[in-house]
This record gives sequence, structure tokens and C-alpha cells, in this order.
Amino acid sequence: TKKVYLFPEGTKEKKFLLGGKGANLAEMTNAGLPVPPGFTITTSACLDYYKDGEILSGELMKQVHTSLQQLEEQTGKQFGNIANPLLVSVRSGSVFSMPGMMDTILNLGLNDKTVVGLAELTSNPRFAYDSYRRFIQMFSNVVLGIDHYFFEEIIDELKEKNGVSEDTALSAEDWQSVIKKYLVLVEQKTKFPFPQDPKVQLSQAIEAVFRSWNNARAKIYRKINKIPDDLGTAVNIQLMVFGNLGNDSGTGVAFTRNPSTGQNELYGEFLINAQGEDVVAGVRTPNPISDLESQMPAIHSQFVDLSNLLEEHYGDMQDIEFTVERGNLYILQTRSGKRTAQAAVKIAVDLVEEGKITKEEALLRIDPDQMDQMLHPRIDPNVELQVIAKGLPASPGAASGQITFDADEAERLAEKGQKVILVRPETTPEDIHGILAAQGILTSRGGMTSHAAVVARGMGKACICGCEQLKIDLRAGIVQVGATTLKQGDHITIDGSSGHVILGTVPLIDPHLSAEFEQLLLWADDVRKIQVRANADNPKDAKKARVFGAEGIGLCRTEHMFMEPSRVPIVQQMILAENDEEQKTALAQLLPMQKEDFKGIFASMDGLPVNIRLLDPPLHEFLPNMEELIVELTKMKMQQTDSTSYLVKEALLKKVRALHEFNPMLGHRGCRLGMTNPEIYEMQVEALFQAVVESKLAGIDVTPEVMIPLVGHVQELKALRRMVIAVADRIQEETGTHFEYTIGTMIEVPRAALTAEEIAEQADFFSFGTNDLTQTTFGFSRDDAEGKFLHTYVEQKVLPDNPFIVLDQEGVGSLVKMAVRAGREKKPGLKTGVCGEHGGEKSSIQFFHDVGIDYVSCSPFRVPIARLAAAHAEL
Ligand code: ADP
Ligand code: MG
Ligand code: MG
Repeated sequence: TKKVYLFPEGTKEKKFLLGGKGANLAEMTNAGLPVPPGFTITTSACLDYYKDGEILSGELMKQVHTSLQQLEEQTGKQFGNIANPLLVSVRSGSVFSMPGMMDTILNLGLNDKTVVGLAELTSNPRFAYDSYRRFIQMFSNVVLGIDHYFFEEIIDELKEKNGVSEDTALSAEDWQSVIKKYLVLVEQKTKFPFPQDPKVQLSQAIEAVFRSWNNARAKIYRKINKIPDDLGTAVNIQLMVFGNLGNDSGTGVAFTRNPSTGQNELYGEFLINAQGEDVVAGVRTPNPISDLESQMPAIHSQFVDLSNLLEEHYGDMQDIEFTVERGNLYILQTRSGKRTAQAAVKIAVDLVEEGKITKEEALLRIDPDQMDQMLHPRIDPNVELQVIAKGLPASPGAASGQITFDADEAERLAEKGQKVILVRPETTPEDIHGILAAQGILTSRGGMTSHAAVVARGMGKACICGCEQLKIDLRAGIVQVGATTLKQGDHITIDGSSGHVILGTVPLIDPHLSAEFEQLLLWADDVRKIQVRANADNPKDAKKARVFGAEGIGLCRTEHMFMEPSRVPIVQQMILAENDEEQKTALAQLLPMQKEDFKGIFASMDGLPVNIRLLDPPLHEFLPNMEELIVELTKMKMQQTDSTSYLVKEALLKKVRALHEFNPMLGHRGCRLGMTNPEIYEMQVEALFQAVVESKLAGIDVTPEVMIPLVGHVQELKALRRMVIAVADRIQEETGTHFEYTIGTMIEVPRAALTAEEIAEQADFFSFGTNDLTQTTFGFSRDDAEGKFLHTYVEQKVLPDNPFIVLDQEGVGSLVKMAVRAGREKKPGLKTGVCGEHGGEKSSIQFFHDVGIDYVSCSPFRVPIARLAAAHAEL
């Protein structure tokens, strides 16, 4: 089989075989762009490598050597030829881009002899020896596993000796002496001399790139980005072009649009007299691309043309790597650029308006999960901030946390639930686990196209790069900014939109939707059929939900109204009442409060449906904690507190004991409370209908849906339905006002789903409480499961995902499907909704759409995500 493709043999459609980089190099070659020639080893060759027990097959190497020969003929250069050596890069390139996570080796083909030839050929010995030492260092690091540190140390020593601070101040002779030391170092570390034969170098490099598919950071990156582990990487072998040949050479990276904001402007960075890695590795802070315009105007305008061409060709924002060798421009890579959510939305909407893509394409380009980033709190613009430094605004968002200088430490602290800002001179791909754990990233070096910035944007983490005012001393664990010294553990805030580093923690406010985001969501609304409501328990959340486009309230948890601090004592009075009289007094106090809450919600939802669930949690949730009470009582006894207050406390403890449950999740809650303590539900329903009447009189359009929780048997619903109707009748009579309402139930225990047909007779609607339904179907108590074993289940792939986040379609989902079907059989127009957290999760929404659910309901901040996901479900 064919394992190697010359660039002209590929196309962008062959991405799975050639990897993204290889496929695009092929595509650009065929489009006539200036791409250095080369060839690609397929991803399936990589899979074979692993299948064969990590050896390169003879067949593969035969094809590699044939292609190499063709490359030699094409370039007139020869591998290992002293007079005119062929030098190549060996570049990883997987199907889905994983920036910087795998390995690449540049300048391969250099050895003690060819370096002399290269020096003569280019009449630039300094360049030749610099390239060779770079090669030894990269090869030794990637293939032989020797840490960069040992090489840097050698350079630093020399610089110190010469009294210079920049690499550029080192001469050809200096590099020659560095090379000598490098070669000794390698032999010391590996017990073998550095390989001089270019063919040996090549096969070892290919192997190393294959192996880099499974290095630690690549694995973490795949996990975070849900990229399958069994795709393998391609290997690209490409003629080297040199950006480090002098001041008419250079290298850079550019995005065709701003990847942070989405602004339609060429956005990039470059370095004169440097090799590619220097920009993307974030070691030097590069210059903005606009400098290219003044320094190499012809190259700049050629590059602008090519980048427009590439964006047009791919119909999307591109991330382009380029190199200039002695006044000639070469393109080394193009791919769809990673971008923030904000940029993704703006770019998609702009591309529609520019007539380059359709609305549907725009909708499908945006991952609903990524929208989450745009719905995070931002810094209150009206608050005065103590800005201590400014860096490059590499990825927007505000993040506060304690300073941490080390990725491992960041991970440790985050596991303990602490918020950290990872502060580093630069971040490398090895820091990925720390980036993941941190709230935000702050670096003193490196540009906006550095790997750290790219990865942070992809994850939606706030990031500031190249903040050069920071003097970071890793050894001492401090960072100095002007007169301020901060240490590990001190709190700072970073604003990735402005680049501001702020002392301390600052107040955050709710996000708002950008004009482009509003536009995109309106297109989503045109497409989707499933409705989107919000879960909201108070007028403020209801208003917010409406702003985000909610089409009603799918779940109002009335117990939250009881939990307000000022009300808790009254609720406790109600629970602790010794007789009916006492209880009535307490309920009478609660009724007007609850009524006012309902009126507020109806007002903010004027014209839209509001679903109100009667009290759900067990009553002991409103009482003090038993252990704490016992401690308090013991204290009182020791201090001989006066007997009345002691007796009151003791009585409270008795009641708390009586209400104690062995398994509250399956205990005395939901409609079971309604059955045993009818006064509470009656009060709630009365408050609800009085609110309806008063709202109507105030001109508000309201049709409440009364929801009975935790029904498992039709008789429960039947009894409570009768009660609701009785109260409604009474209030209509008392007030002389007619109003509409519906009564339905939550389906959240398996028995309800199994007997949905009977239950439908008593219900006007079903609302699937998929949180509890997941608990009761699996028999998992959520708090215990998530704390103790669920992550093991997911890690060991016993479960594909946490079922409390992503609906378990086979189990919980089939109960939903069954209940919808059975319910509608009995009652064709039966309204169905989902009010669990799954109502805001994209794959679950797809499922609900497919089984014919009328609406999903989620937290206000997830409403935009659900609107988009609902459109995806349709497309
Ligand atoms: P990554 O996937 O980490 O971006 P690449 O394979 O793209 O790794 O290589 C990193 C950098 O090395 C590129 O940005 C490019 O500038 C430089 N590079 C790779 N191949 C060549 C080449 N043939 N000639 C010159 N520079 C190269
Ligand atoms: Mg690259
Ligand atoms: Mg429930």
C-alpha cells in the first residue's frame, strides 16, 4: 500500500490520511502557492508502526527513500552531500490540529561535514553553525530525550563569558565551540556519538514523531478536546527554507482575522533573522506583523494577497506560518485558526454578511459548548481598578486567583478547589495540565501567536502574554512589577480583553450578548423547532432569562423562595409547629411572600408560560444541622446557659431527630410531602392563584402550569390534582375572576415513566426531571457518585460521560422516549419538556429533539447555548 505521498499527490480532502498539515501543504502546492517541496507519510503508517510493536517497516522506509530521491532530483540537492546538502524538516501533523503538542525537527541532514558545505554555499558560516547547533539540540531533545536545559546552560555560560546577553551577539566561532560541547554532552548522556548519517537521523526522527502522538501533553490535549486516541499522526518531510540567513530573512505566523476578537484585520507576528520555532515557542517576543510592512514592503503585500487567497479558498479564517529566505516568501502551513468564542461568532456572522458562507454553515461552525465562554461574568466597567501592568490581550475574559508559578502546583491547588493564575516567563506545551487547571494565564514573554496563547484561546481561558514589565524570579517564587513585589499565593486578576493585570480580586458582572451573537441566535431561532425555556426561581433570574431569549419558565423551584434568610425562621416555625393553630399562623405569614414572588415572575414573563413546581425537598433541609445542634447544646450545658433557651434548643433537636432520614434523596419529599402535609401545598397553590388573579388585573398575560414533583403512582397525582382544582375553583369564585391553568407532573422516577399512560390521564404535561431521573434510574446518589466513583467510571470508560451532564441515552433516555410515546398515545397533545441540567447540553438536546420533546429548560446562562444546540439538532 501507498504510505508516502508527494505534496502534489494530496488534497485537502485526504486529511484523515495525510493529517491536517500534510493535506493543506498538498492543497497549497497544487494551488501554486510557494510551498517548499516535500512529502507526507500517512497516518495509517503511524498506526502500523504501533501495530508492529513500534518498528518502522522496511516497506515504509523503501517508499520514504524513493520519495527522498525525487526530492533530491527536484531540488538539485543531496542528502549528506557536502557541497550541496539537502536539509529537511520532519514535522508531525495529526488529523485535528494539536498546536505544539507533538514534535517537529528542523535542519535535519546537518552533520560535522555538511555544515561546512552549508557555510560555504551560503557564504554565511554563522548561519550554518547556528543551524547545526539548533538541529543537535532539537534532535537530542525530541529523539534522544535530553532536556533543553542542558543545552541552554552551555549557551548561557558562553554568553556570560563573552559578556553578551543576546544569542545574536554570538559569532560563527562561538557556535562552533557550542557545537563541540553539545556533541560531548550527547555522548555523555546517551553513551553514543551524535548520529552523523542523515538517513539514520531521518529514520530516528520519523520514529520520534510517531511516538510523539503518545507523549503526555498530546494525550492530555486529546482528552480535553475529545480527539480520538486512535488516529495517529502523519509525518511531513519538507525542504528547509531559512529565516535565519540574515536581515533579509525572517519567520512569522499570522491569522487572517483577529483570533481574539474576530476583527477583520491581518493579525500576526514575525521575527527578522529567526527560525520558525522562535515565534511559536514563545521564547522571544516577536514584532507585530505591521512592522513587516515597513521593513519588507514587497513581502508584506505579497503575504497579504496570499492570505486573502487562502481565506477565500478555505472559506474560513486561517492561521498561516511563513518564512522569508533572502527576500523570498514561503508558506509553511495553513489551517483553520483556533479562536475564542467571541471571535468565532463574529467571524461566522461576518462571513455570512460578506457572502462567503451560508447562515446554516455559520450556525454549524459554532460549537454550542464553546459559547459558554461568552456567558461568563466580566469585570464591572464602573469599578476603579488597581492596574499594575499591561501585556498583550491574548485571550479575553476576566479571571482572578492566586499567583502560581508552576504548572504542577497549579494542578494541585485546583484539585483542592482553589483558583489560580498561572504566571510564567513563557508557557510551553508541557504546561498544558497547568493551563487547564488555572483560571487564567499570564506570561512575561512570548507573543499572541505563541502556543500558550493559542491553547488558552482554544480552551476559553483568559490569557495575557508578553507582559514584559513583570520580572519573574521562579527560584525565589516572586514576581516584581515596578515597586510592587508579589509572591506565590497573592491574589491578582487578569483581563484578557484589555491585557490589564490587576491587583487583588475585582467584582464581576453578568455578561451581555454581542450584536453578532444576537444575530446568530436569531438565525438559530429561525431554524429550530424545539423551544427553549429557563429554570428561574426569582424575578431577577427570570428577567435575565428573557434577555437571553428564554420562551418561558420551565421550572420555578418554590423552595428557593423559602430559603431566603429572612424567611427561614418562619418556615422553621411552620415545620416545628406543635398544633394546627401554630402552623396556620406561620403559613399565613408565608403566603403573601410567596404571592409577591410569583407576581414578580409573572410580570417579567408577561405573555410567556411559567411552570411552577410545588415544594420538593424534605423539610429537614430547612432546619439546622443535627451535629451542629448537638455541639451547641453541649456548649450551653457547660456554660450553664439559662434553662428556657436550653429547652428551646433541645426541643429543636428532638424535631430535627424526628425528621432525620436515612436516605433523603429517596425519602419524604416531593408529592409525598403534599400527601402527608396538604396544608403546605394548599398554601402554595393559593398564593399562586391569588398572584395570577392580581397579575391579570394588572394587565399581565399569565397562564401558569402547576407542577407536582416526584410522582411515581397515578393516585398521587390524582389526589393532588383534585386539591389544586379545588383551590382554583374557590379562588375564582371568591375573586370573581376566571383564569386558565394546567396541571402536570415531573417524570423523575422510573415508575412514572413505566406507567406514563395512566399518569397522562391526570396530567396536562410531563416535564422530565432528568437530574433525579438519572439518580433514580442508575440508583446513584449524585453527590456521592460525583465525589466518589463517577470519575473512575468515566476514566475507565465504564461510562462514556458523566450521566449528570450528558444524558445517558440508552438508559435514562429510553425511559424518556417511552414515556413520551405512551403519554401521547393516551393524550395526543400532551406537552412535554425537560427541566434537568441536560436541557442545556448539546448532545442531550439533539436526543430530546429526536424523541419529540416540545421544549427544554435550562439555567438562564445556558439559554443561548440551548438555542444554538436546538438549531444544530435541526440541521
Ligand atoms: P507545529 O505543529 O508545532 O506548529 P511545525 O511542524 O509547524 O510544528 O513546525 C514548527 C515551525 O518550524 C513552523 O512554524 C515553521 O516555521 C518551522 N518549519 C517547519 N518546517 C520548516 C521548513 N521546511 N523550513 C523552514 N521552517 C520550517
Ligand atoms: Mg505549525
Ligand atoms: Mg427532582
